[in-house]
Amino acid sequence: MTTPPAPTPPALTRIEILRLRVPLAQPWVSPVATMVDRDVVLVAVTVDGVVGWGECGAQLDPTYSPEYVDGALDVLRRHLIPRALGEGSGEVDAVERAMAPVKGHPMAKAALTGAVLDAWLRARRVSLVDHLVALSTATRARSWAVPSSVPSGVAVGVAAGLDALVDEVGARVDEGYRRVKIKIHPGWDVTAVSAVRATFGPALALQVDANGSYGALGVDEAARRLRALDDHGLVLIEQPLGDDDLVGHAALARRLATPVCLDESIASVDDAVTALALGACGVINVKVGRVGGLASAVAVHDLCAAAGVPVWCGGLLETGVGRAVNLAVAALPNFSLPGDLSASARFWHRDVVTEPARLEPDGTIVVPRGAGIGVEVIPDVDRWLVWRGSWPAS
Ligand code: MG
Repeated sequence: MTTPPAPTPPALTRIEILRLRVPLAQPWVSPVATMVDRDVVLVAVTVDGVVGWGECGAQLDPTYSPEYVDGALDVLRRHLIPRALGEGSGEVDAVERAMAPVKGHPMAKAALTGAVLDAWLRARRVSLVDHLVALSTATRARSWAVPSSVPSGVAVGVAAGLDALVDEVGARVDEGYRRVKIKIHPGWDVTAVSAVRATFGPALALQVDANGSYGALGVDEAARRLRALDDHGLVLIEQPLGDDDLVGHAALARRLATPVCLDESIASVDDAVTALALGACGVINVKVGRVGGLASAVAVHDLCAAAGVPVWCGGLLETGVGRAVNLAVAALPNFSLPGDLSASARFWHRDVVTEPARLEPDGTIVVPRGAGIGVEVIPDVDRWLVWRGSWPAS
């Protein structure tokens, strides 16, 4: 009797990095910069002859998180790609183990593992959303079924003044967005929220993001100012204090009626465990890149589901590659609040994929169900090419 040969593991044979500079449909004004285009890092891998794609969420400057485009490219080239190719396996777990000695750089790692997973799923004709559903422990409730679409939401950038803010929110509401997020900071909070509420009424799902800007005030003063928002029916207040201040967020959360949501503070599954144990938040904003990849994103989702804490899917100005990933993630059941899930046209004149996400008449966006991430990169993506590298060197 002969023993059948062990199945050959899928082989990772090639990795390519594309740095693109893609024009934005309109300037994006963050608290620290105005962007007219986006430096996008796409990763393409070949596993058993099948190409998979991933997108790195890092931005040009290290102002949202420590990662930034040049840093992500450097760590990919010097450390992550050599380890992944040295391992040679096209299994996501093996790639993650090979990269594990490299500390930090969650977005760069997520781009690479996301691409490997996409190739692996495409070869098996399985959609990313079906894969995530199988991975999650929170999807096993008998009454739950995978939704075909998820509610949209939109983040409004920093506005030049109250009139500009109200105009911008109005434009997004007219487009059909169900939930709006505005930026706040000390001195631009109650006034801004009151103006939006006065114009659009209490029915608009409205939330605010402080990007840590109340941290310098200390918890007592932050609580005093943010309590003034409790009468405005906000869905949540996102990241009022500094990234590392989980104890402060716990103290603040006890003093506010509005749920505190954490974004920048949750850079790993362990951070989510600590935040939940401390009572530092009533909601978590999950960004796949920020927590290091899809397995971590699902783990944070499941932890929060078990703790009765809802999550929503944040955005990092993704192209259609990262957007398709976000839509699949947001289909999981504990993503019970609308995410920053906007149509492609919100950010791009032309997207890098052939099936840009569209806002449906009911205010939702369809979850891609094709193999892998379910979208294809356009053939002439090189039109925006700034730099390309491929490994092994040919
Ligand atoms: Mg945020």
